[in-house]
Amino acid sequence: MEVITKIKEMQIVVDYLRASGKKIACVPTMGYLHEGHLSLVKRAKEIADVVIVTLFVNPTQFGPNEDYNRYPRDFAKDKANCEQAGVDFILHPEVQEMYPSGYNTEINIREISKKFEGAFRPIHFNGVATIVSKLFMATKPHYALFGQKDYQQTLVIKQMARDLLIDVAIVIAPTIRELDGLAKSSRNIFLSESERKNATNIYKALELAAEEIHKGEKRRKVINGIMHNVLRSAGAFHIDYAMSADADTLDEPEEFLSGQRIVLLIAAYLGKTRLIDNYIVSLPSSISSRPERFENF
Ligand code: AMP
Repeated sequence: MEVITKIKEMQIVVDYLRASGKKIACVPTMGYLHEGHLSLVKRAKEIADVVIVTLFVNPTQFGPNEDYNRYPRDFAKDKANCEQAGVDFILHPEVQEMYPSGYNTEINIREISKKFEGAFRPIHFNGVATIVSKLFMATKPHYALFGQKDYQQTLVIKQMARDLLIDVAIVIAPTIRELDGLAKSSRNIFLSESERKNATNIYKALELAAEEIHKGEKRRKVINGIMHNVLRSAGAFHIDYAMSADADTLDEPEEFLSGQRIVLLIAAYLGKTRLIDNYIVSLPSSISSRPERFENF
């Protein structure tokens, strides 16, 4: 495994690899790797010849009062994890390398990036889209892997790749969870013992709402109310949003239609730690009496 810090060097390597007919997969991360990230690496190894993990805590996707400085970092451990997982290259640039002075371009994805997460973190998805497009330019991948954990992000990236004619297959992998359902996240280390116990209620809220949808509940506000109730009765949560929407467009109809694929989305604080999670579920179609349940796509 090789660690590369300079974009030019990375580009020379990937040009050579592409010319030799190798398929490249890129796994963009902010580091502090856990099993969620490593599941993306595993999938990447299955579909490509060469796996590049990028480790970069991207300042432009954090708002002024967010946790950029506090975001956990442990390069030595990430490097060991990547080595063990069979990663071929780590791209680990300095901020100056990604955003040299005079840098003046950003990518704005309209609509899909403005609601839910985008409403609470207004600059977030512009920062994400900008850095991901730059990482694509740096690593020239055939495949790029993202986790369903950041559901709205997957829609934003797909939209960007489509709109900018970026020749990369976006692969989405399922959310990896702790035994009690809490989605693995680099930020989970910030949870106190009691917050950690309470955090499972996010998954409970998603599951309960999904159960009701399975039973045929289609009223959006009722579905949202179920999630709010679980979080409220758990106490301690400050809810940014607990919402349901069409899984592809994020539209919010009064009532969902039979067979419609719905995403349940939650963002909530426990103390200072902001957690996000989601769940995909389909309303039963009128012809099926036993609806299928799935969390991936
Ligand atoms: P991050 O380092 O948080 O920016 O995440 C890097 C990538 O890993 C993103 O595509 C995330 O969606 C994905 N990821 C983070 N947590 C998980 C998880 N628990 N399961 C699957 N993928 C994840």
